[in-house]
Amino acid sequence: MAVAPKPARAQNRTAAELGRKIIEAGLDTAECYRVRDLEITHDEARIYLTDGYLMFGKPVNGVPLTAVFSADNDGGDAEVLLLPPDRSERRSMAAYTGAPNLNEHFSEAAFIFTDGTAQSLLEQVRAAETKKAPDVGAIMKERWNSVVTNLLEGFESRVVLDLLTPGPRRGFFEAVIQGKKLGNFDIIYDARAYEQLIAGQVSNRKNGTWWDTWSSFVSRGNKGRPSPRPEMQILSYQIDASLDSALSLHCVTKMKIRVSEDARNVIPVDLSGQMRALTAKVDGVPAEMYQRESLRSGLVQNTGNELLLVLPATPLEPGSEHEVEIVHEGKVILDAGREVYFVSARGSWYPNRGLQFAKFDVTYRYPKTLDLVAAGQVREDRVEGETRITRRIPDGPVRLLGFNLGQYQRKELERNGITIEVCANKQLEDALRPRSVEVPAAVMASEPGRQRRRPGVNGQDMVAPAPLPVPSPVNQLTRLAAHVESATEFYRSRFGEPPVKRIEVSPVPGRFGQGFAGMIYLPTVNYVAPANPSAGPVRDLTFFRDLLLAHEVGHQWWGNIVASGSYHHEWLMEALANYSAVMYLENSPVSGASSEKGGEKKMGSKAIETALELYRQQLFLKGPDGETAESEGPVVQGRRLESSNNPNASTAVLYGKGTWIIHMLRRRMGDERFLKMLAELRKRYEWKVLDTESFRAICAEFMPPGAPDAKLEAFFDQWVYGTGVPALKLTFSVKGKPGAYKLTGTLTQSEVPDDFSIPVPVEIQTARGKSVVQVVRTSSEPVQFTVNVASPTAKAVLDPGWSVLRR
Ligand SMILES: [Zn+2]
Repeated sequence: MAVAPKPARAQNRTAAELGRKIIEAGLDTAECYRVRDLEITHDEARIYLTDGYLMFGKPVNGVPLTAVFSADNDGGDAEVLLLPPDRSERRSMAAYTGAPNLNEHFSEAAFIFTDGTAQSLLEQVRAAETKKAPDVGAIMKERWNSVVTNLLEGFESRVVLDLLTPGPRRGFFEAVIQGKKLGNFDIIYDARAYEQLIAGQVSNRKNGTWWDTWSSFVSRGNKGRPSPRPEMQILSYQIDASLDSALSLHCVTKMKIRVSEDARNVIPVDLSGQMRALTAKVDGVPAEMYQRESLRSGLVQNTGNELLLVLPATPLEPGSEHEVEIVHEGKVILDAGREVYFVSARGSWYPNRGLQFAKFDVTYRYPKTLDLVAAGQVREDRVEGETRITRRIPDGPVRLLGFNLGQYQRKELERNGITIEVCANKQLEDALRPRSVEVPAAVMASEPGRQRRRPGVNGQDMVAPAPLPVPSPVNQLTRLAAHVESATEFYRSRFGEPPVKRIEVSPVPGRFGQGFAGMIYLPTVNYVAPANPSAGPVRDLTFFRDLLLAHEVGHQWWGNIVASGSYHHEWLMEALANYSAVMYLENSPVSGASSEKGGEKKMGSKAIETALELYRQQLFLKGPDGETAESEGPVVQGRRLESSNNPNASTAVLYGKGTWIIHMLRRRMGDERFLKMLAELRKRYEWKVLDTESFRAICAEFMPPGAPDAKLEAFFDQWVYGTGVPALKLTFSVKGKPGAYKLTGTLTQSEVPDDFSIPVPVEIQTARGKSVVQVVRTSSEPVQFTVNVASPTAKAVLDPGWSVLRR
């Protein structure tokens, strides 16, 4: 392109002006109407304003963006209908509202819209020659004006974006409805979203505030269309990140992008709400930049992501490549005390849009007293005055780039071309200084008889089992580094070479981990040595910490090479990383006793059983709604399961049931085929996104010839797309005479719907140590089977190989 850059003074302030107009618009008393039988339709969602008053907001660019409705009059009424299109969404709706379809009367509602809703409502109002009611308008304005302005503020950048890039399939509609039975809830239709129709509610409970997604789906009018894609492809990043002594991060981020039609006039990016964008340039020419007012003025403390708009001085040709430079700063690094720091906005401290694989080149400038942990090869490392400058280039494309800073002691290992560096804080942060370490309630529950031996703490779920020795995180370095190294070796020999040739591990305060490409965040609790590693709950605690570490290493493959698309498929990455970790521990020496005894006794099936048993128990823990975590919804509901009904359901189902699902698939395929499948999965989906159906298809390819349910359709229907775990009971007797004994068994299934049916292995063991496996398919009625056996002492054992999840 040979367009001369416009002089800076000619640069307009379109977006800023628009943003101001949007917020200042307010409701219009002159545009209040006495309405009957108006209808707002967005595919499966219908809103009927049967009888009441409708008042519009003052128009912006000629069209109102808001309206409020009140049925606070004699005979006033309104109704909303939303019919979810499939069984699982109807089930989800019912779990929150008590009915599979939403059908609710309401008396008040506020609407925000940038799609055709305003035009449609105004046409209906005009066609019916509706009377104006300015006196009611004045009363309604008093009640609603600030509510509508507050609502708009939350959508400010999005409204600006839609007004600057008009067109079909870009706008949104949001209704905040005061239901007569269900309280306040929202109906959203968003043309840019992956699922356009969403119904849900902010729910305040004793245990906190939750956004409950009642239902979310691709709406009728969007069925069969490709999913909306980000407005531009991000090809590469070049970031210059400077951290000052007050831990404020100042970044100059340059992104190479290829734009689509949707980014012709505006380039939208997401950035942590803790970051403020200062200036932007497109191809070196200053560009207008827009971030919503409340953020710019620092009025809100926002920990989520915010939409930032960059307006190039001249429109960009679709398909062309450009460099966008954004200068941004903010306090994304938090201080946990005793020089323990962590990056709070992992993955959103730089501008991003959708999760895209891109190349990175990052130069970090930071106080020379601190150490840096980051992804990528070190290309430059020097000290200038008080500042240390380190340039890092990650191997291969990366979806999320993380880093961390602290005062570290490091342990470096190198094996077969991969360098592993584990960092430990020199001191333990304040939060971990108490005299004891906590054990999750679930671990306690898994120890038989443990309840009685609990120290005298009433009603507390987190318990201190053992006093700690001197808590120096550094003591754990060697052990942790060895684990990371052997887990890496274990995976690379099974899932192929990782693209990263360097993996750094950084401590983060708290109890969570995260695995980015070449960079793992490990919770600082993992750096605390248990006093007596072979004792009871502490042994399990050590096991689950090791599992977490191996899980994060597993994400180098599952999550960073093979990735998941929408939230429906996220369970795949968690379950695959977690099951990989279970397999790693299965092949690891027994914990605690390994080095002294020098023995190579492997954990073997004990590792599988310890993990699966804990997950099984977590699935049956009940939430505030009295239902078990498992029954809240299937794995494909993903993060939506983290709701007020049962906040723990998401973890229990995504990780726990997900791990069980992978394990059951392994049992169906057999070990050899299962490992081949995983290797092929990595090969076929390298730098691609994997969805649940594609995963089913690849698993089906590796099923043994002649296996029942060869396409795994019944398996996925029952375990992946459905809920329900059966209770199974096996009884048997042996009758007959020498040479003609028969074992007759009965397998009874309960606690699942009548159509639930699964193949269950039953092992027939005879006294001579020979055993055969009989596969019995369950049904709503007890199922009988008969086997010829050689001895009257033969036994039938239900699923000794843990191949079926059951109560
Ligand atoms: Zn994970």
